[in-house]
Amino acid sequence: MAVIDSAALDRAVGEARREGVDRDARRVLRWARDLLGEGLMMTTSFQKGGMVLLHMVRDQLPDLPVFFLDTGFHFQETLDFAEKIRRDWGIHLVYQRGQLFGESFQAKHGDLFETNPNLCCHLNKVEPQNEILARYQGWITAIRRDQASTRAEADVLEILDGPKLKVQPLALWSREQVSAYLKEHQVPLHPLYAQGYQSIGCGPCTQPSSDATNERAGRWGGKKIECGLHTFWQKRGESRPPAPPAGPAIVERVEILGQKPEPPGLPQAAAG
Ligand code: SF4
Repeated sequence: MAVIDSAALDRAVGEARREGVDRDARRVLRWARDLLGEGLMMTTSFQKGGMVLLHMVRDQLPDLPVFFLDTGFHFQETLDFAEKIRRDWGIHLVYQRGQLFGESFQAKHGDLFETNPNLCCHLNKVEPQNEILARYQGWITAIRRDQASTRAEADVLEILDGPKLKVQPLALWSREQVSAYLKEHQVPLHPLYAQGYQSIGCGPCTQPSSDATNERAGRWGGKKIECGLHTFWQKRGESRPPAPPAGPAIVERVEILGQKPEPPGLPQAAAG
């Protein structure tokens, strides 16, 4: 994978902004692919915004690697829905897991989602995400400014330390725009929305909520609103928050794990 250096990435992003590429979700996806080629990937948890992007990706970048962080704690409905979309849409879905998974994780950590949810998210989401990012320069996500105060300054194109390029085509979209797109294109929705969930993450940490105005409602019992995926990696020049207690050294793991093949037993890239 060719890596673009900081100066070249700065120039490319500057030009894209001047030309208004970042104001058009479909156009910015194509632009990012032209810029980074095989160094571009997407992550999704199959929520509403993710489905908008997947719908665009299906049509425009059908071979784009789409990673799903399989924490071992997802609802069965989420796993079934992911598999349905992979099969029906032919997306190149890759399941990414932490170093310990399922019974192995439980045996070592017990109910970590209760005793230390920050560490649980770190081991099952942030670390696997970092392993992915060690292999790619560009990362497409569906986060939007209006989802939460922690996302209020999200931009369509963000340069992270590395340099990495975070591409968030929907950053400036409203919830209404997302709903209108899903309706217009008859995009299938995760079945748990029909059961009162506003946001759908891991089973133990997600509850239905009647607060339809809050897209992050029902997550972690209101104790926190981010798992760290979008807050651990900082925009270039910002200081990085400290690692959670008792977590392994991230940089060390990225270097080691970035060189090893896929762990045995993982579902392989389920190319469509
Ligand atoms: Fe663990 Fe809950 Fe975070 Fe999932 S959302 S990784 S179960 S703490």
